[in-house]
Amino acid sequence: MRQKLVVGNWKMYGRLERNRTLLEGVLSGVRDLTQAAYGVCVPYPYLAQAQVMLQGSNVAWGAQNLSQHEEGAFTGAVAPGMLVDFGCRYVIIGHSERRALFHESNDIAAAKFDAAIKAGMTPIFCVGETLVERESGVTEQVVARQLDVVLNHVGAAAVAKSVIAYEPVWAIGTGKTATPEQAQAVHAFIRAQVAQLDEQTAQALCILYGGSVKPNNAEQLFAMPDIDGGLIGGASLVAEDFVAICSAANAAAAG
Ligand code: PEP
Repeated sequence: MRQKLVVGNWKMYGRLERNRTLLEGVLSGVRDLTQAAYGVCVPYPYLAQAQVMLQGSNVAWGAQNLSQHEEGAFTGAVAPGMLVDFGCRYVIIGHSERRALFHESNDIAAAKFDAAIKAGMTPIFCVGETLVERESGVTEQVVARQLDVVLNHVGAAAVAKSVIAYEPVWAIGTGKTATPEQAQAVHAFIRAQVAQLDEQTAQALCILYGGSVKPNNAEQLFAMPDIDGGLIGGASLVAEDFVAICSAANAAAAG
């Protein structure tokens, strides 16, 4: 039985005081939700705050990006070892906003995935199609291409230490959620792709759904057999909503 996992992606939102209130709300809301796992991926400047506030709790923390390089003259970049210094468990890689706005290619995402694994973190690797791609019927080809680059680059042992997030681009921040059936179909496809590499890894792999997960749709999504939790953007900035989504994962895990 795979563990359910809910991770918040704060994107470029937050201020020290606001974060404090948010994390206090999350901590008290999930303290007794013992059946699933939880995390928040915060902007770099707030990693120290997350570390201090979340240490010893059942909420892990992480970052939203990293450099594929260990160190060097890369102004503005953050090395994997720096994230490890702040106790990061997770790092989001290949988010569609980074692919679209920062021109990150599949090859760069694969190199970052590798760097995260080597540093001992769990990459949350995002894949997903645009609306045009879905409407043209090429969702599986797009997702397969995004996955293949990483699978071929890092191999089964590294994939086993990762989390995959299926995030249809048309559902991110739009309020449009994939139906549980649409999401389940792509999650099953992802698992089958990984099974071609290694069956055991595929069965154990945690595959999150991301794209406008809210308290009112989390339960139906998390009930699907290949949906192992969620990567949550907007709703992770509201403690009550994030806790409600964590609670749905906890209930799904408890069966
Ligand atoms: C995301 O940014 O990863 C995301 C899923 O955002 P939202 O939940 O706001 O759609």
